[in-house]
Amino acid sequence: MLYQRSSQLFAEAEKVIPGGVNSPVRAFKAVGGTPIFVKSAKGAYLLDEDGNQLIDYINSWGPMILGHAFQPVVDAVIEKAKSGTSFGMPTELETQIAALAVKMVPNIDKIRFVNSGTEACMSAIRLARGYTKRDKIIKFAGCYHGHSDSFLIQAGSGAITFGSPNSPGVTTGTAKDTLLANYNDLENVSALIEANKDEIAAIIVEPVAGNMGCIPPNKGFLEGLRRLCTDNGILLIFDEVMTGFRLAAGGVQELFNIKADIVCFGKVIGGGLPVGAFAARNEIMNYLAPLGPVYQAGTLSGNPLAMAAGLAMLQALDSDREIYKRLEEKTAYLAAGIDKVLKANKVDFTINRAGSMISVHFAETPVFDFQTAAKGDNETFKKFFHGLLKEGIYIAPSAYETWFITDALTYEDLDFTIQAIDKVSRTF
Ligand SMILES: *Cc1c(COP(=O)(O)O)cnc(C)c1O
Repeated sequence: MLYQRSSQLFAEAEKVIPGGVNSPVRAFKAVGGTPIFVKSAKGAYLLDEDGNQLIDYINSWGPMILGHAFQPVVDAVIEKAKSGTSFGMPTELETQIAALAVKMVPNIDKIRFVNSGTEACMSAIRLARGYTKRDKIIKFAGCYHGHSDSFLIQAGSGAITFGSPNSPGVTTGTAKDTLLANYNDLENVSALIEANKDEIAAIIVEPVAGNMGCIPPNKGFLEGLRRLCTDNGILLIFDEVMTGFRLAAGGVQELFNIKADIVCFGKVIGGGLPVGAFAARNEIMNYLAPLGPVYQAGTLSGNPLAMAAGLAMLQALDSDREIYKRLEEKTAYLAAGIDKVLKANKVDFTINRAGSMISVHFAETPVFDFQTAAKGDNETFKKFFHGLLKEGIYIAPSAYETWFITDALTYEDLDFTIQAIDKVSRTF
């Protein structure tokens, strides 16, 4: 495949955009080569500026769970745009999507819409701090909660890929209020709580981690966090920006039947437009302005275009719960196929999977936290990535990313992918 036009476009972009991209992982730094410029996408496929067609396993990093240019979302956005794209005033649409989200997700009474997952997580911890009147939070190494200051401490994929787990520009004052724990390690969390008695406002966690590859919680981990939070007056925040409306209609809370105190959303909830949201029971949400003292706002929050896209997406997911079964089956099929060919080709690897999230780590030891995820062989990953690209398959350009399976993928696409992986892994 040729990437002539992509290379030209990247060179032009680099002159006026730092690194040529508006979000770092897009730049291919971890794998080398030039980023591919997209012209259009439909269903499971991307069409790039050189006319190459690629099977897409990133899907805008998660939102396109039903495939690209999903017709009901496209129609809703076009129709809405005709009657104005933003008013900074309430619209009925906001109540409709809020009511549907509250119906689909367990344990929430109210939801506030923002413009990104970053904003959702940032606002959720401010709310937790205001509500508990405590300053510190616990986050897990390798978990990503967006790029706001408090979270850029061992922050998973993007930050790891660029060798700056702790970003310059985050003040020591802010960093000292973020305590770091190891994923799947309850004793570690317990010790942190002991050492910071009555100072911790919240524990924020990706309940199925997806930003150090896919790492499901060990049995008892989330239950343990719930118990520690309840016992110590700490709020449990599930960052479901990636997992929300993806692993189940009600997210991980539904999947594992565990109650979080605050839940953050993004990605799927916007159907591909910039949307984030955070939600909780009344008692907590009523702490937000204008009802309560914790301030949070947004000029474009809840704008009709974004809400129309999100509503069309949630309606599609709500009206056909079989989608989750199909996604599970397709992803299990893909995982089994990859497992078979990598074993046959004597590759050291571990496949992690939860529902429609999957990742392949080139390490033979189990991957259950950031340290074990970091053991993967990046040289093998680079060969894997570029080999697949040559075959017309686009996975995330970093070994720390999850693949997102969409309902638009057919079993032929999956077979084609498994065959390509067979071919590529023979050359390792
Ligand atoms: C993507 C992501 C975010 C950040 O969302 P943005 O919309 O990129 O700001 C936060 N948390 C998790 C778990 C994510 O996967």
